[in-house]
Amino acid sequence: MTDATALRRRTQDLLRAHPPADTDRADFLRARFDAGLAWVHYPEGLGGLGAPRALQAVVDAELEAAGAPDNDPRRIGIGLGMAAPTVLAYGTEEQKRRWLRPLWTGDEVWCQLFSEPGAGSDLAALGTRAIRDGDSWVVNGQKVWTSSAHTARWAILIARTDPDLPKHRGISYFVCDMTDPGVQVRPLRQITGEAEFNEVFLTDVRIPDTHRLGDVGDGWKVAQTTLMNERVAIGGMRLPREGGMIAPVAETWRSRPELRTHDLHQRLLGLWVEAEVARLTGERLRQQLAQGQPGPEGSGMKLTFARLNQQISGLEVELLGDEGLLYDDWTMRRPEIVDFTGREAGYRYLRSKGNSIEGGTSEVLLNIVAERVLGLPSEPRTDKDIAWKDLAR
Ligand SMILES: Cc1cc2nc3c(=O)[nH]c(=O)nc-3n(C[C@H](O)[C@H](O)[C@H](O)COP(=O)(O)OP(=O)(O)OC[C@H]3O[C@@H](n4cnc5c(N)ncnc54)[C@H](O)[C@@H]3O)c2cc1C
Repeated sequence: MTDATALRRRTQDLLRAHPPADTDRADFLRARFDAGLAWVHYPEGLGGLGAPRALQAVVDAELEAAGAPDNDPRRIGIGLGMAAPTVLAYGTEEQKRRWLRPLWTGDEVWCQLFSEPGAGSDLAALGTRAIRDGDSWVVNGQKVWTSSAHTARWAILIARTDPDLPKHRGISYFVCDMTDPGVQVRPLRQITGEAEFNEVFLTDVRIPDTHRLGDVGDGWKVAQTTLMNERVAIGGMRLPREGGMIAPVAETWRSRPELRTHDLHQRLLGLWVEAEVARLTGERLRQQLAQGQPGPEGSGMKLTFARLNQQISGLEVELLGDEGLLYDDWTMRRPEIVDFTGREAGYRYLRSKGNSIEGGTSEVLLNIVAERVLGLPSEPRTDKDIAWKDLAR
């Protein structure tokens, strides 16, 4: 029986055996994984103990109090939030053992090769082809907006394996080795001047069939697990009270009384309350997740996250007046993480524009909430029974 007391004891044993002050960071993280304290709700042998997800907080609090290093979730967010739950749900035992440990410790970074120039919201229209050749697949195509492709060792990839079937049915799901010589990564500059994401060209990339997740032709179903987890990962991060985007603007409000106006005060209070409601809703969503896969509620969470980030960062720029407009560092960096709070107001304002596009646009998420939460009639879909190769493109 793994309860809070047992977990606390187990965490203290880990800390005694590997004192953080005298242990190499990577070694500590590997030992934590092997002790089943990485993500306690994962199965034994895969970084967990099969314990309720909510008990992770007990472990995290003990480790934080002891000054133990963490695995820097911002750097490996795609691996943790999207690849891992998909590998767990669809991977073979061998695949889980090969990929989950270095994914969690951050030894291997993951990226997501889903979007294409002609397939974003309508992702099932994708045209990257995977053709079977003996024990492997040969992949050709172009992906776009691939965050972290420049640091990634592995990618989750969806590709068309049967163009004769309707678009949702001829897709398969693979894990692609980003060091394959056929993978070319080129930076794409964003509105901030930086290049967090990339376009990725795949030319005769060989993927062993043992790197397929799920059955051939079942890729759309597998991708739903990734996408539903993505929305929770983007919109439902665990935050302290007054954490996230509201933190810097509240801090400026307190420390710079000369900037205050009555109108901004009312708006700041309204947004502060909304941010707190969103944070607590995220907490509830994570508790629901303890019961299994995320549902469409994650889409609602991500919608709110995008709207609030844009409104709060807009208010911050207004509050700072001329100062808020000062964003003049256009160095093309290749950041490994998106750090909203450690940067200037102008950066937050510009970067949050992408929040209503990444992980599903707000319009598409509204459609999902309308159909799957509110039960409204679905959009007309005229192409769902036509072979992909016969669709107009
Ligand atoms: C910062 C950032 C990081 C990203 N990282 C990744 C990544 O790592 N990997 C990856 O694969 N992709 C990534 N993306 C891509 C992202 O998933 C797509 O941009 C997104 O799905 C939208 O696709 P699109 O850009 O092709 O726009 P389109 O699908 O062409 O949409 C254009 C407009 O039409 C609207 N629209 C489209 N369909 C409908 C509809 N049915 N109803 C109402 N309105 C509709 C959209 O809301 C949008 O306003 C990232 C994007 C951003 C901004």
